[in-house]
Amino acid sequence: MIPQQVMHIGLDDTDSTKGGCTTYLAALLVEKLEAFCVHFIDYPGLIRLNPNVPWKTRGNGALCLRFSFDERFEEEIKESAIALWEENSAIKEKGTDPGIVFLRSAKIPEELKAFSKKTEKSIVTLKEAMALIKKLKAEALGFNSCRGIIGALAAIGEPLEGDYTYELIAYRAKENWGSKRKVDEESIFEMDKQLQPFTFNNVDSETRRVIITPRGPDPILFGIRGESAETVKNAYELVKPLEPVERWVIFRSNQGTDAHLRRVDGLSKIEPYSSVIVKAVVSQNPRTIPVRHVIFALKDNSAEVDCAAYEPTGSIRKTARELIVGDCIEVYGAVHKATSSKPLTINLEKINIMELKPQTRKENPICPACKKRMKSMGKNQGFRCEKCGTKFPTSKKKEFTIPRGLKTGLYVTSTRSQRHLTKPLIRYGQEKNGKVKPEIIIEWHFP
Ligand code: ZN
Repeated sequence: MIPQQVMHIGLDDTDSTKGGCTTYLAALLVEKLEAFCVHFIDYPGLIRLNPNVPWKTRGNGALCLRFSFDERFEEEIKESAIALWEENSAIKEKGTDPGIVFLRSAKIPEELKAFSKKTEKSIVTLKEAMALIKKLKAEALGFNSCRGIIGALAAIGEPLEGDYTYELIAYRAKENWGSKRKVDEESIFEMDKQLQPFTFNNVDSETRRVIITPRGPDPILFGIRGESAETVKNAYELVKPLEPVERWVIFRSNQGTDAHLRRVDGLSKIEPYSSVIVKAVVSQNPRTIPVRHVIFALKDNSAEVDCAAYEPTGSIRKTARELIVGDCIEVYGAVHKATSSKPLTINLEKINIMELKPQTRKENPICPACKKRMKSMGKNQGFRCEKCGTKFPTSKKKEFTIPRGLKTGLYVTSTRSQRHLTKPLIRYGQEKNGKVKPEIIIEWHFP
């Protein structure tokens, strides 16, 4: 028997705005590692980290590969992983800070898991990451500011033991990178129809637009998100690409799980750069500011903050516009720090309406003879009919209840503007428990 060891390789921030994609590097690495006869013990992890860090690249996603291997190949495995990482990192691009981390360990240390949770929800420094790397005897390499090391380490420490989802990502042949993506749109709508509710965020229901194909110069042709590896694989077979697929891989992910959100029990406890769930009462009616953003204020006995539904959030903006002072709601969203022109603001991802305040309107009484609305004769002096002249000195204004254009319940931003981590409505009730690791299907990548 050859002694088998377990290794975890974490990768982050190898892409720039001009192209590349860390998931693609992971896909290449899967193929490369197979040459060393490794045995993958999990699907590659695609871990989305705190979407509010000021220096993030587009999606702030980090990757992790976990496998057992023949000890004799350890150095060769590391060397070829590093070579591939260097080759595929946009090291010359400003703002790209690639990192790669190796950890040899059968179990994920609890301390590392806690580090990862923190990286998903708040701000972590490189210093903290380096201290932990030293303590765990992990190895790390980085370029430029080396910030990618934080994400690479965090990806290793997220074994997805709570809720999780899958994404199958198909990649384009290199000669097509940067050109318009060619996929049969009808086949995507058909796949979405057939596999609902087990895949999600394929199309935007409001605009009837396909959203599984990105727009940038990156190598991704499309990515299908779903509840199981089998489902995303079936979905892949239903979609008709009209250009060559160079490779595809199924990732296991925290996407669509709300992993970034932290429930806080008071508005005074919310902090900039984090994402929160907080319950409070509407204290200022919504107002629309240029260009079609909706802002309202929320208050509890500890503080008052602004909430914003920006134009691209679509349907949630309509919900926000209907709120009135006194409504009791729970808001989900990213906290943006106060500036000279704006107070602390929560950018809304979801609104859970818990209690709607009855809306009333006061109106002058109607003349019993003429059926006309009467005029006030002054404060507490009653009303007078302008038509027949009759006075009613003791009459009072009448209060009417106006129907609210809202119902209690959960409202989520439109699919097209959802963040990678936002749990879409369709996933409610389908949450999984990752305590028991899922079996790996035979064909989870190509080639
Ligand atoms: Zn009258």
